[in-house]
Amino acid sequence: MDHKAADSLQDLQFFGEFGGVNPSISDSSTYTFMAAKTMFDTFEGNTEGCYLYSRHSTPSNLYLGEALATLEGTETANVYASGMGAITSVILQMCDAGDHIVSSRTIYGGTYAFMKNFLKKFAINTSFVDTTNLAAVAQAITPNTKMIYCEAVSNPLLEVADIAALSKLAKKHNLPLVVDNTFSPLAISPGKLGADVIIHSLTKFINGTSDCVAGVVCGTVDFCASLKDVNSGAAMLLGSTLDSLRSSSILKNMRTLPIRMKKHAENAQYLAEKFEADGWAVSYPGLASHPGHETMTRQMNKDFGYGGLLTLNVGSLDNANNLMELMQKKNLGYLAVSLGFYKTLFSAPGTSTSSEIPMEEQKEMGLGEGLIRFSIGLDDDIARTYKIMKACMQELNILSTENVSA
Ligand SMILES: *Cc1c(COP(=O)(O)O)cnc(C)c1O
Repeated sequence: MDHKAADSLQDLQFFGEFGGVNPSISDSSTYTFMAAKTMFDTFEGNTEGCYLYSRHSTPSNLYLGEALATLEGTETANVYASGMGAITSVILQMCDAGDHIVSSRTIYGGTYAFMKNFLKKFAINTSFVDTTNLAAVAQAITPNTKMIYCEAVSNPLLEVADIAALSKLAKKHNLPLVVDNTFSPLAISPGKLGADVIIHSLTKFINGTSDCVAGVVCGTVDFCASLKDVNSGAAMLLGSTLDSLRSSSILKNMRTLPIRMKKHAENAQYLAEKFEADGWAVSYPGLASHPGHETMTRQMNKDFGYGGLLTLNVGSLDNANNLMELMQKKNLGYLAVSLGFYKTLFSAPGTSTSSEIPMEEQKEMGLGEGLIRFSIGLDDDIARTYKIMKACMQELNILSTENVSA
């Protein structure tokens, strides 16, 4: 049992200036100085507790950053205007023109497109490998490699990274291990397992209300300071800064993260077991049949379960589309991308969130056309949800899909 991160979150106290139980929201783009000298020192990055300009930092962003550093057990954290804002800042901070990245091949479509297409501008090449195969990762490392990148639980195939093993390999080659932990907040603590930088899209579970996009980079004081350096910081100079109003609303939503993660996982585990018993091609890390089950069990914080995401292969894109439309009609959830909402969200990743990945490569990595990704909601009566889902499949005459290659 490991409640440490959740306990530490509960213990955080940020008061408003009039004793409010929530911190006051910083509502300024710029800040005054009593002495001109202090302004100069702040530009140089030498004055603790002084604010300069809101693209650099704001009190609200620092509160949210502190809460996220507490969640991941890192020295500090910077918040960004989106998950991609966080990911692209980290990559451009770590890599110069001509450098090389070793990345998992099953990652978020936007991250994949950034590495594969956009980074061409800087002649930064990425080797996409199966990161569950350590020999393949080791073999891909070149003298120009600047980082190893993976997702703790990958999008959309729910591949589980062995973070401790990857960290050992990274350290041997003196490389930072960067882990996107968007799918598994609280359940997996990459920092404790040896990751150097942990990224989240806050848009998903951490905010949990599907009302904004935001991101975070958790790491050392030195690395986070480098990202917002006024002369050379990727985040400071590219400007993917989070607005203070949003920071404060995300901080408030984050307080229910532990109970939400438990409920998402409990509901997903229930449905996954039922689907498996019915003979469906279901994939969920909480099932013994999942290839990453053993790795996840070994490295997870048990009380938070195996996460809220599961995939179901219903054989063809037509089946997937018909089923999703019918489930939406029956109010089981929404046909929408994204995850971590109170309602179940479902989409066919091959034609949506992973469409940046060419069809052939999708097939190679096991991303079948009939694959539906579910982000399971906070349904109070999941047994009732299951019954209605099953009736939808029967109505569409989608037979059990055990033999569909996942
Ligand atoms: C959504 C997502 C991102 C991108 O985050 P945005 O907030 O949409 O920019 C990155 N990684 C993963 C795993 C995601 O699910």
